[in-house]
Amino acid sequence: MQLAKRLDRIVEPQTIRMAKLSRALKAEGQNIIDLSIGEPDFFTPEYIDIAATLAMEQGYTKYPPVAGFPELRQAICDKFLRDNNLSFLPEQIIISTGAKQSLANIVLSIINPGDEVIIPTPYWVTYSALVQLSEGEPVFVRTTIDKDFKITPEQLEAAITEKTRMFIFSSPCNPTGTVYSKSELEALAAVFEKHPDIAIVSDEIYEYINYVGHHESIAQFTAIKDQVIVVNGFSKGYAMTGWRLGYMAAPAALATACEKFQSQFTSGANSISQRAAITALNGDQTPTRNMTEAFRSRLAFMIQALGDMPGVKIHQPKGAFYMFPDISSFFGKSDGTTIINNDEDLSMYLLHTAKITTVNGGAFGDDRCIRISFATGMEQLQEAMERMKTALANLQ
Ligand code: PLP
Repeated sequence: MQLAKRLDRIVEPQTIRMAKLSRALKAEGQNIIDLSIGEPDFFTPEYIDIAATLAMEQGYTKYPPVAGFPELRQAICDKFLRDNNLSFLPEQIIISTGAKQSLANIVLSIINPGDEVIIPTPYWVTYSALVQLSEGEPVFVRTTIDKDFKITPEQLEAAITEKTRMFIFSSPCNPTGTVYSKSELEALAAVFEKHPDIAIVSDEIYEYINYVGHHESIAQFTAIKDQVIVVNGFSKGYAMTGWRLGYMAAPAALATACEKFQSQFTSGANSISQRAAITALNGDQTPTRNMTEAFRSRLAFMIQALGDMPGVKIHQPKGAFYMFPDISSFFGKSDGTTIINNDEDLSMYLLHTAKITTVNGGAFGDDRCIRISFATGMEQLQEAMERMKTALANLQ
């Protein structure tokens, strides 16, 4: 069977490839500690599970409205007002099968062949794939560990051309954990204000996993409000990765365009997940806060453990559950058998010698780093860091 050329434009995400590899090696009986995962190791809070069971008993097992149940769209508007002081109307909210599908709907609805999309690196793997699928041109702007992996207004301005149609970023960021402050976002907003035709896609899926206080959204600046599309979801903050539920808030015309796409792709997101999500948003947020507190203590441990490893350069993540250390000092070194030439070699070396899975930074657009997830229990993390320290010490 001949497959479409379209497939050549994208690759399977390295994150998913490493998770698969990790599962396969575990199935062979190897004692692998998986630090490649992008999902909380917690179960979905019980009050949400109960709401899903109730939804099935109440007969919410039929096709939902394509854009989502009105009650959920309203609950999301209430959430925006409560948490972010942002006002949206329900018709501006589209519920989808994960934030990933919201992003796909948005990029496919806006990008024409040849349009440029500015993506600060390191970035979440899917952004560039979606742009390439739409035949757009990703324009990568390099941020560095020394500048906390943040794009500056000057860098942004310099990257804008007459072909620029979109900017995509996440704060808190996957893979770096970087969180933009209000004043940093305001400075970027001042640049966008001069370019009203650029759509700003703000991926805020790690909103609740924030270690520095209040989440700030770039949508708060009124001068650019009509340019901003906020993407969020239930996977991370409510440990609901398998429920596949996300959403976007956008100017009404874009929301309608995304609904049109969705009407042909999926007919709408899972009805049971949607009913449970209403309860997730309106219920007691203590489990979400407790999860973040657990991540916070793991973060402290990771900073100390990685900080103690000679040759590993770390920064201080302010959100999400990843470390993104610079490991380039090991390039050119060897344990006597394996030579480490790049980030991928180091990630594979750690897999085969320390039995831990990480993701090479090149997958996120920065090949001097690797991503280490700490969405794993403390005991596992302690063991993994011991093994990593030993493996790295053997590289000369
Ligand atoms: N955006 C970012 C930055 C992510 O890290 C992820 C998942 O890893 C997603 C979006 C996708 O989330 P969902 O599970 O809602 O599709």
